[in-house]
Amino acid sequence: MEEKTKEQLLDEKLQFTKKNVYEEAAPEKCAAILTYAEGYKAFLDAAKTEREAVAFAVDMAEKAGYTPYRIGDVLKAGDKRYLNNRGRSLFLIRMGSAPLETDGVRIIAAHVDSPRLDLKQIPLYEDSGFAFLKTHYYGGIKKYQWTTIPLALHGTVVRADGTMLELKIGECESDPVFYVNDLLPHLGQEQAKKPLGEAIPGEALNILVGGLPLANDDGGERIKRGILRHLYENYGMTEEDFISAELCAVPAYRARDIGFDRALIGGYGHDDRVCAYPALTALFDSKNDNRTVLIVLADKEEVGSDGVSGMQCDIIRDLLDAIADSAGVNPAVVRAASMCLSADVNAAYDPNFADVYERRNSAMISCGTTLSKYTGARGKSSTNDASAEYVGYIRRLFAEEGVIWQTAELGRVDAGGGGTVAKYIAKLNIDTVDIGVPVISMHAPYEVISKADLYTTYEAFAAFIK
Ligand code: MN
Ligand code: MN
Repeated sequence: MEEKTKEQLLDEKLQFTKKNVYEEAAPEKCAAILTYAEGYKAFLDAAKTEREAVAFAVDMAEKAGYTPYRIGDVLKAGDKRYLNNRGRSLFLIRMGSAPLETDGVRIIAAHVDSPRLDLKQIPLYEDSGFAFLKTHYYGGIKKYQWTTIPLALHGTVVRADGTMLELKIGECESDPVFYVNDLLPHLGQEQAKKPLGEAIPGEALNILVGGLPLANDDGGERIKRGILRHLYENYGMTEEDFISAELCAVPAYRARDIGFDRALIGGYGHDDRVCAYPALTALFDSKNDNRTVLIVLADKEEVGSDGVSGMQCDIIRDLLDAIADSAGVNPAVVRAASMCLSADVNAAYDPNFADVYERRNSAMISCGTTLSKYTGARGKSSTNDASAEYVGYIRRLFAEEGVIWQTAELGRVDAGGGGTVAKYIAKLNIDTVDIGVPVISMHAPYEVISKADLYTTYEAFAAFIK
């Protein structure tokens, strides 16, 4: 390669240009990017619901020497603990030796719930030779995308006697899968004239689960009763047990490389497990245990972060209080000294739908982990807008550690918008900024990300907790 001229070097210094990570990275880094993606794909396949993601993370944590923590337990430097919040959200705490009053806690918060079809409380019915399960969709979905694809049923049932049942049907090759019907184009003339959002009504998202009538039986609803007998014989569950259950239908697909060159990954629920996985691995790979670190895997982000497992729950405050109390430091002082990366995905610029993006301020695929100073909609409404000082600090950190990163906002001004958990953490008086992986077809049953963006997100998190 030719030496750069003085003018070229000056231009490089003065201009901010997004860089394609695959182009910038040395061959060893490119190899690391591809290797890291294999572990991530295994995580995606094993963790399609928040409960499965929490269970997977607990397993990783225990292998890394973490032990269960309950609010009230005293913490000391060197402790590695995890707080499993009802199996739906998880807090991993690594107590450092640096003073909490000046260094605070480094927090990385990702969410592990993803859009899907939840079963209703009384879901099972029979109609015209079929048995179906009624659903109520969870999170922001384009309903038409959830028809005519193979679905798996995942979830937890609490039976009448209090015993628990974990269900996962549709992931093994030998399992049956489930399905939501759509209309044939031959009879779809009226449907095709409707706006996309109205073509499939919410009450049409019924999951096909059977069609075999009970043999030698004179009663009614023989298909439905056949399904109930199947559920009872195989899982010891009754129709009433659906009421105390969290069952959902998720795409039965596995994560796969996309494209001839394997630069990208297709999978269900990249949003936001693509940030959860780098947060976990950055923590477990971290050698320096000087800093106190809190990794959060939150639930309910896709529906507003409400409830006991959402980020609006006071449990995070209770935990930060417990950390401060253990060290005998005023919790308000610890919060004020803490910093957070709100680890969530952003929309990758899609040249097929260019008109909803403003290209200069969009996340470009494979150009690195994406910092979003603000999110929100309609004039930055409902956003945590990180301070110039905090963004400046993060920038310097990434420059020091050689992390390739970019900035983005979610689409054109007034094209729509969105939010993350950032504002709930900022509410605790903790500097917070959004960062994460750009995603194509976000919230679709099969989303796409770049392995390079996944890896640079891991590098960014590792730098943050170093
Ligand atoms: Mn998200
Ligand atoms: Mn989302």
